[in-house]
Amino acid sequence: MAKPDAAPVRIAEAALRDYVAAIFAAAGSEPREAGLIADHLVAANLAGHDSHGVGMLPAYIRNVGLGELKLNQRLSTALDTGGLILCDAARGAGQVMGHDAMALGIARARETGLCLVGLRDSHHIGRIGTYAEQAVAAGLVSLHFVNVVSEPAVAPFGGRSARVGTNPIAIGIPRDGEPPIVVDFATSRWAVGKVRVANNKGEPVPPGTLLDAEGQPTLDASALFASPKGALLPFGEHKGWCLSLAAELLGAALIGGPVQSHPKADERIVNSMLTILISPERLGTAPAFQDSIGDFAAWVRDGGGEVLLPGEPERARRAERQRDGIPVDPVTWAQIVEAAESVGCTARPEARG
Ligand code: NAD
Repeated sequence: MAKPDAAPVRIAEAALRDYVAAIFAAAGSEPREAGLIADHLVAANLAGHDSHGVGMLPAYIRNVGLGELKLNQRLSTALDTGGLILCDAARGAGQVMGHDAMALGIARARETGLCLVGLRDSHHIGRIGTYAEQAVAAGLVSLHFVNVVSEPAVAPFGGRSARVGTNPIAIGIPRDGEPPIVVDFATSRWAVGKVRVANNKGEPVPPGTLLDAEGQPTLDASALFASPKGALLPFGEHKGWCLSLAAELLGAALIGGPVQSHPKADERIVNSMLTILISPERLGTAPAFQDSIGDFAAWVRDGGGEVLLPGEPERARRAERQRDGIPVDPVTWAQIVEAAESVGCTARPEARG
């Protein structure tokens, strides 16, 4: 096993993307599916969200073997009333299911101004900001509520043990001639994948992030993966918990997706997502909306300090990693190589140590 504190390997974006696509092709994905999964995972790393990048690959490949991730699944439409679309993913590859559900909703919202899309029962859909980026690229505002049905990872505010998932929320806001605003975060203090990365690197987590199995605060990242396991805490105390509950009930219950209700003994990672897409163009407010965003952005930045708009940290990280390569910690890299070999993919990209 590689030393957790050893330097990361660095891999060029294109080489890493080709490697991930080759691994999924070897596992049985058709080329489009392998390509969409690879694009999504590598883009998450480029954005700096290593928790939702190629480090997820070993779990995905394990779930293919366990029958929890069904390769080459087609998205099916259970309801389409014009403004309301419900899609069933039947545990298909989340990066494809999410992409295709968004494409349906985007086409509709551009036509009619507003569309609600419910995506139910998908295998892990990855970084939710990706779907907000898909919407803003089409000039739409988007809101996303997502639940996670998996082994519970997060304690409710005031609770002592894990009961819910990290239930993310995202919002995309397009801008004319400027990069979009992309709000995208887990409602837990950290995403599970971020704790996994810290654990792989042998690093502690900040205070207020984790409880141990006895419900006591801990800085030890391994507490989340121990047996019995600890729990993440919601961000912002009761406020994060309230948003997590909203993500569970809107992201899944409202659209008929599965909700977290009892411990899961298996390794499944199931997401459902409620998306609301709005066309400022159709609303007739597009020019004023853009002016107001510009005025507001200037106003908040003028107050002193270094104010960032959501989406800016990811853009800065993307520029840096496109230039220098994508760092992957050695433990994660060893796990990826092992997963690749388990499906017979032995060619490896050149990595700088
Ligand atoms: P995070 O804590 O890094 O927050 C990211 C968000 O905060 C982004 O919108 C970013 O632009 C913004 N941001 C960061 N610094 C900022 C600053 N200084 N000023 C203004 N805005 C700033 O994100 P996270 O909670 O660790 O989530 C990581 C990823 O995990 C997300 O992409 C999320 O979608 C994903 N996720 C997915 C699932 C799933 O089940 N599919 C579950 C949980 C999280």
